[in-house]
Amino acid sequence: MFDRTELRYLEHALQTLERGFAGLPDFQAGLETASLQALLQTVAERMQDNFPYPHPLYAGQMLKPPHPVARLAYMLSMYINPNNHALDGGRASSAMEKEAVAGIASMFGYKSHLGHLCASGTIANLEALWVARHAQPRPQVLASEQAHYTHARMCEVLQMPFRAVGVDEAGRMDMNALEALLKQEAVGTVVATLGSTALGAVDPLHEILRLRERYGFRVHVDAAYGGYYTLVDNLGGAARAAFDAMPRADSIVVDPHKHGLQPYGCGCVLLRDPAEGRFYKHESPYTYFTSSELHLGEISLECSRPGAAAVALWATQQLLPLQPGGEFARSLETCRRAALALRQQLANGRAYLAGPVPELDIVVWSMAAANRSRASRLAQQVFTAAAGRQLHLALLQVPDRLASAWWPGLNGEPTAVTALRSCLMKPEHSEWLPRILELLAAASSEVQSA
Ligand SMILES: *Cc1c(COP(=O)(O)O)cnc(C)c1O
Repeated sequence: MFDRTELRYLEHALQTLERGFAGLPDFQAGLETASLQALLQTVAERMQDNFPYPHPLYAGQMLKPPHPVARLAYMLSMYINPNNHALDGGRASSAMEKEAVAGIASMFGYKSHLGHLCASGTIANLEALWVARHAQPRPQVLASEQAHYTHARMCEVLQMPFRAVGVDEAGRMDMNALEALLKQEAVGTVVATLGSTALGAVDPLHEILRLRERYGFRVHVDAAYGGYYTLVDNLGGAARAAFDAMPRADSIVVDPHKHGLQPYGCGCVLLRDPAEGRFYKHESPYTYFTSSELHLGEISLECSRPGAAAVALWATQQLLPLQPGGEFARSLETCRRAALALRQQLANGRAYLAGPVPELDIVVWSMAAANRSRASRLAQQVFTAAAGRQLHLALLQVPDRLASAWWPGLNGEPTAVTALRSCLMKPEHSEWLPRILELLAAASSEVQSA
């Protein structure tokens, strides 16, 4: 499963890195290698207790292996362990972060920007909402019922009132529900989710921006999972229109550690107006003396941050530029094609009830059954039986209203339906689809006949 030849490239690059410090007197940190080796063996054994995330038969949650170049560049920079808080902690990696972030900003069509990497989508959204709190007078935040659960939590941290807006049958923010709330109260910020975590639903950002003209609020785009899909050529019309409106949003969040082929610990926040950097102003008695150039710590909520994350992202973007029609864009197009194909196959099969046509690469389906409680039980059982056959899926609680719209034939109590869910985030899923369907069919008939 793992390519071990890549470790040779790491060794070669490490020699080059070391030459940069050739003027120093020789120094080796003392290591007792026997116990180190033994302990690493123990770690490897402990790590066997994992689902096989990098394998195409892992088709469950939102997990995607980092690109080898990201993994190697990250490991290489660990020998320096730079801290991108300040230039004193990592000159090269700070420069690489500025370049990589500029690449992301231009992917979204931002003509100007202020931005940086951070720990995660959650922290990136926290920061964007914190800026929103300072940038205009009204604290009220709205996001859809399908928005990530951390928005409500982060609003609590920031003491900003939060309300959820209803969704349409596709799981997208409902514009009538939004306008009704805008008429009722003074709203400061609307969060548009471009690619919801559960369904991959894309809120109609272009229509939200039309309402902004009338009601005047700030627009933050949470594209933690879906953002890179702006590069592809096979989106549906509504999703395309939403992504095309991104340059007009006040702030954007994307997670390079979701679809951007990075190890965890890599989120990104972008502000369209660089002047909003003024909200970060602070006095630090220990840093920022080595240069009058911008230190990233002067424009970020967090202090210490891994320079390695920036190095890995920079290397990945060099190898796979963020361009429409490029290799990276093609790989996302393949993921969406795989999701459309899986959904079509499920719709053709009698054992399943397909959910909505995926806007990105997440597929949701129910088991065909006499009623909701039986369908929910079957989904649980298929989930377990599939895992027993090395096919790893995910489960999703589909709220009553969406379940009624998608599967009107599924009778029973008006409760949530437990459905099956698959994130086809690896391009290899496309080739492996016949195998995935075969294992799913075997798991389903095992359960149905039990
Ligand atoms: C994953 C996700 C988040 C949270 O990001 P983390 O990196 O897991 O903290 C926020 N919003 C959306 C839409 C997501 O998919």
